[in-house]
Amino acid sequence: MSTQTPDIAIIGGGPVGSLAAATLSRAGYSVALFERGAAPNAGTTRPDTRGYALAAGSVQMLDDLGYWSSVAEQASPIRSIVVSRRGGLGRVHLNARDHGRAALGQVVPAAALDPMLHEACRAAGVDRHYDATLAGLDPAEGDRRTLHIRGAKGEAAWCARLILAADGVGSPTRKALGLPVQRLRYDADALVFDVRPDRPHNGQAFERFTDEGPLALLPQADGRMNVVWVAPPPTCEQRLEQTEAERLRELQARFGWALGRLRPAGPVVRFPLERVHAPQPVAERALLLGNAAHSVHPVAGQGLNLSLRDVAGLLGALRTGRQADGTPTFAADPGAAAVLETYANARRQDVGSVVAATDFLARGLMHAAGLRGHGLGAGMMAVDRLRPARDALARSAMGLGPLPRHMLAHLPAAGEGAA
Ligand SMILES: Cc1cc2nc3c(=O)[nH]c(=O)nc-3n(C[C@H](O)[C@H](O)[C@H](O)COP(=O)(O)OP(=O)(O)OC[C@H]3O[C@@H](n4cnc5c(N)ncnc54)[C@H](O)[C@@H]3O)c2cc1C
Repeated sequence: MSTQTPDIAIIGGGPVGSLAAATLSRAGYSVALFERGAAPNAGTTRPDTRGYALAAGSVQMLDDLGYWSSVAEQASPIRSIVVSRRGGLGRVHLNARDHGRAALGQVVPAAALDPMLHEACRAAGVDRHYDATLAGLDPAEGDRRTLHIRGAKGEAAWCARLILAADGVGSPTRKALGLPVQRLRYDADALVFDVRPDRPHNGQAFERFTDEGPLALLPQADGRMNVVWVAPPPTCEQRLEQTEAERLRELQARFGWALGRLRPAGPVVRFPLERVHAPQPVAERALLLGNAAHSVHPVAGQGLNLSLRDVAGLLGALRTGRQADGTPTFAADPGAAAVLETYANARRQDVGSVVAATDFLARGLMHAAGLRGHGLGAGMMAVDRLRPARDALARSAMGLGPLPRHMLAHLPAAGEGAA
């Protein structure tokens, strides 16, 4: 079989690999995407119960790219967030209106994001392969690097200028590249499911720190709330064995009655929680994106937001200029060492600070009891009263850092942009 030669080969067709594939194809590169799972319409995928809290900056990015309108109807605005501590004083109340905005962010069901991204890949002309896994990776040779893909019809070689590893926390591609990684398995899992409260949520999100971990309720469309309930693995195990009614009773006791009675509204899925950080996300003609480069505790709903900024950062590193009509131009060789170095430098600070901040929240507040808990309560009260502290917290929740907005808004609809 002859070797195929795309500009860019992406391993992993999760949200990050798919968004990277669609946008890089629109930038004019030929892109091949390899996903080990089945094709989206095969009907064999397990339900993903997560509702992604997307910060206002991420929503803006998807809107600039022309992707937001197709998920907007299934999204629910976060108009305010209440951060509190179970069994203790002190709470922080962030309100979008206080910051001149209609919403701090939006909650989008994973089940809505996936089809939108698949359609984006199809429209951009990405060459997609399902049931396809990485079987091996050769060292770079000249301006290309060969990867071996095992698919339904056997093994084939692909020779790309740039290889993107978007294959998740365990990233076989990261391993094959020999890039170092720091990993910490938290003593915690998350149970994620929908509930329907008696009272309307009015766009309010709740983040509660409890003695066993954070408990978040995120507003969803049609009145539901998405629950992210973090606890040590044996506790999660017990809760999975309970009847729905028992589980809901326990949740209600932990969350309280702010929204009236909580009723079940969907299946429960368990997610193991791990911190992953690859301090050096680039190798020769290869780069790590999303969970393969960094996976963070869901305590602040930052993981996907951070990864979307990876994709924007990569487009920024590839951009060489713009034409008279505003259309950006991109590097002829996407895997050139200078591009990869620009990318790594541009992403270092954002990734490092989100990994550290979420780790602090997850580990420092995991057991918010005793003296440490009092300190936390006092800190929360102080933040709630001090306008500058509240503003800083709201800005970080909205993720409104600098994005290459002009370039994102001017990407051609289908691949025609590379220099
Ligand atoms: C409980 C929970 C709640 C969360 N909530 C939020 C939130 O509210 N907001 C937010 O911003 N983030 C949130 N996150 C984080 C978010 O889920 C991740 O940031 C996001 O999933 C990263 O996507 P990814 O594409 O990098 O990785 P993944 O989603 O893990 O996708 C990796 C893909 O690679 C494929 N793959 C793996 N190995 C191979 C191989 N060898 N060959 C081919 N394909 C392969 C897999 O099948 C998969 O499709 C949450 C995470 C958890 C656990």
